[in-house]
Amino acid sequence: MITINIGDNVHCDFCNGGAESKGGVMIGSHAVCGTCTDKYGYLKEDYEYADEISFKFPQDKTFKDNVLAYRNVTTGTREGTIEIKAWDDFEELD
Ligand SMILES: [Zn+2]
Repeated sequence: MITINIGDNVHCDFCNGGAESKGGVMIGSHAVCGTCTDKYGYLKEDYEYADEISFKFPQDKTFKDNVLAYRNVTTGTREGTIEIKAWDDFEELD
């Protein structure tokens, strides 16, 4: 398995940008920037799937600051990693 450290880069899982937008939400393991949060109305009181939102970030901080703080709390580091599994990592089933 290859693990790539992406450092303190933050990208919205929807638009791949949004680091300097404000607020944002977590939907499961997906970090969604403030721009996409507004676009899809996630913080509207009548949002149909509000129960799918796992965490609402503080609206007075940037999405980047929020995600880095969230990473720090959930993984103990501000650095993010991406894991890539090679075929050899999967064991053959008999
Ligand atoms: Zn976005």
